Amino acid sequence: MNQFEQTLQPLAHKTLAEKLYLVRFKTDTESHLKVDPEKCKPCKDKDCIYICPAEVYKLDEKENIVISYEACLECGTCRIACEFIEWRNPKGGYGVCYRYG
Ligand code: SF4
Ligand code: SF4
Repeated sequence: MNQFEQTLQPLAHKTLAEKLYLVRFKTDTESHLKVDPEKCKPCKDKDCIYICPAEVYKLDEKENIVISYEACLECGTCRIACEFIEWRNPKGGYGVCYRYG
């Protein structure tokens, strides 16, 4: 087992909530993620819902995309998966902070 695998092994059987316990956020009042509802309506696959590791994108009861930007891990996956997501880094001092110890 290499060093990377040794580091990750204790997290292998944890739930998403348990894994995210190690992450700290300083939440801005303004979202750093935006979508255009007009672009999302005809989108059939809704990849954003499935590719985000933090479950930031969800559908509400009217099938509109809701963004829980407070939980964003800033991994950048969604900006690659969907060209219609407006993505920018959170303002300085805000966003995610990782603890490894
Ligand atoms: S954000 Fe992108 S992937 Fe998600 S529903 Fe809108 S268009 Fe589709
Ligand atoms: S950057 Fe990563 S964690 Fe944040 S919304 Fe996109 S996929 Fe989810």
